[in-house]
Amino acid sequence: YEELIDEARLTALTLLDRAEDLTSPTLRLGITGLSRSGKTVFTTALIHALTRGGRLPVFRAMHEGRIAGATLEPQPDDNVPRFDYEGHLSALVDERRWPESTRRISELRLAIDYAPARGGRRALTLDIVDYPGEWLLDLPLLDRSYADFAADSLRLARDPARRDLAAPFLAALADTDPEAPADEALARRLAELFTDYLAACRAEAVAMSLLPPGRFLMPGDLEGSPALTFAPIDLSGDGDPPAGSLAAMMQRRYESYKDRIVRPFFRDHFARLDRQIVLIDVLAALNAGPAALSDLEAALDGILAAFRVGRNSWLGALFRHRIGRVLFAATKADHLHHTSHDPLEAILRRLVERALSRAEGAGAQIDVVALAAVRATREAQVRRGRVHLPAIVGVPEAGQYGADEFDGLAEAAVFPGDLPENPSALFDPSLGFKGLSDAQGGDFRFLRFRPPVVERNGEGQALPLPHIRLDRALEFLIGDRLR
Ligand code: GDP
Repeated sequence: YEELIDEARLTALTLLDRAEDLTSPTLRLGITGLSRSGKTVFTTALIHALTRGGRLPVFRAMHEGRIAGATLEPQPDDNVPRFDYEGHLSALVDERRWPESTRRISELRLAIDYAPARGGRRALTLDIVDYPGEWLLDLPLLDRSYADFAADSLRLARDPARRDLAAPFLAALADTDPEAPADEALARRLAELFTDYLAACRAEAVAMSLLPPGRFLMPGDLEGSPALTFAPIDLSGDGDPPAGSLAAMMQRRYESYKDRIVRPFFRDHFARLDRQIVLIDVLAALNAGPAALSDLEAALDGILAAFRVGRNSWLGALFRHRIGRVLFAATKADHLHHTSHDPLEAILRRLVERALSRAEGAGAQIDVVALAAVRATREAQVRRGRVHLPAIVGVPEAGQYGADEFDGLAEAAVFPGDLPENPSALFDPSLGFKGLSDAQGGDFRFLRFRPPVVERNGEGQALPLPHIRLDRALEFLIGDRLR
C-alpha cells in the first residue's frame, strides 16, 4: 500500500519535472560521495566556474564563449536547505581554509543563459543537489526486514576484523534481554553504542562504506530523533517479537526509519536526478591499503546498485529511464604529479568496471575522471644531489601531526611518488587487491595543503579558481545540454 502511494507520488513528481523541463529546460545534478570525499569543495568550485568562468578548455560551451551568464536563483524545493555557496566560497578565498563538509542534503539552482551552437539564445536551469553518499548505502535496507538487518549487522560486528571495535556494544547486548519490556533509556544506550562502533570502524578505516544505517553516521537534521534510536539485537524465534518488548520497539523504529527517512529520500530527491557525479577519495583508500580498497569497491557496488534500482522494486521503471549520466571522480588529484593523473584515472576506471561487471547494466552513460576541484599545489623540480625530482609544492595546513613541524611554513615540497602506469599492478586476480609497493611511495597525501591564493578583480571578486580537469567533469555532466 505504502509502495503504491510512493509510486504514485514519484510518478506525479516525475510528470511535473518533465513538464517543467519542456517549458523551461531543467537538469537535476546530484553531487555525492562518502564523507570527506570532496563534495562541498567540488560543488563550490563548480558553481564558481559556471558563474565566473575560468580556464575550462574542455567545457565547450564556455570555451566557445557561448555562455552569456549564469546566475543563482531561488531553489525549487522549500523544504531543503540551500547550499551555502557564499559562505563556502568566502572560507576558501577570504580565509584560505577548506569549507565545512557536507552533513545533510542541500540544494542550489543556477540559471544558465547560453547560445546554442546553431544560434539563438536559450536558458538551462541547473538544480544542484549535494547529499551524503552514506545515504545511498541504505537502499538495500528497503527490502530487508528488521530480523535480516539485525542478523547481518551482528554477523559483521562479530567478525574478527570488527569485533574489538564493537566490544562495548556487544557487551551491552549480551546483558540485554530482547523480550524485556521496552525501555527508552536502554534503547538510547544501545543506539549510542552501536553508532560509536560504526564511527570507530570509519575512523580506524576498518570499513568506510558498509556501515548501514547511513543516517547513523550522517544524521543530517535527525540527530537524536526516535527514528534513529534503534540498534540490531538478537531475535529469538522466527515470528515477530512479543508486543511491548524491547525487540518490538527496535523493530518498529527500524521500520519507521525506512518509511520516514530512507524511502522519502529516494523518492523525493534521488529518483529525480538526471545526472550524478560520485566523488571518491581514491588516494585515501590507496594510502590505507588493500582492505580499504576492497571496502571502496564494495561501496561502489552499493552505489551502483542504487543507480540500477531493480526492475521489480518500487522505484522501478520510471527511474531507470531517468538518470542519463553518472561520472565517477577521483578527487584531490593535486596531491599527485601530473604524470600520475592518468594512472589515477585508470585505477578508478578499473574499480568501476569491476563493479559494473557485477551489476546488470546500469542503463546510464558512465565515465571516470581524476580531478582536483580546487588545486592547492603547484609542481616543481627539486634538486636532490645531482638529480631533479618532480615535486608538489603547497602551503601546509597548521596543526598536522600534533607537532607544529609544518606550522607557519610558507611552502613545503613533497615527493608524491608515482602511481603504477598499469592499474593491474594493484589487482591480484586471485587475492583481490595488493598494496602499493614502498618504491612507489607509501603515502600520497601525507600533508594537507591550504587552499591556494586566489587573485581578485577590480571589484574584489575572486578570479577563477585553479583546478585540475574540472572542465572535463563539466563537459560530461552538462555539456550536451548546452550544445
Ligand atoms: P565532503 O565531506 O564530501 O563535503 O568533503 P569536503 O568537500 O569538505 O572535502 C574534505 C576535505 O578534503 C577538505 O577539507 C580538503 O581538505 C580536502 N579537499 C577536498 N577537495 C580538495 C581538492 O580539490 N584539493 C585538495 N588539495 N584538497 C581537497
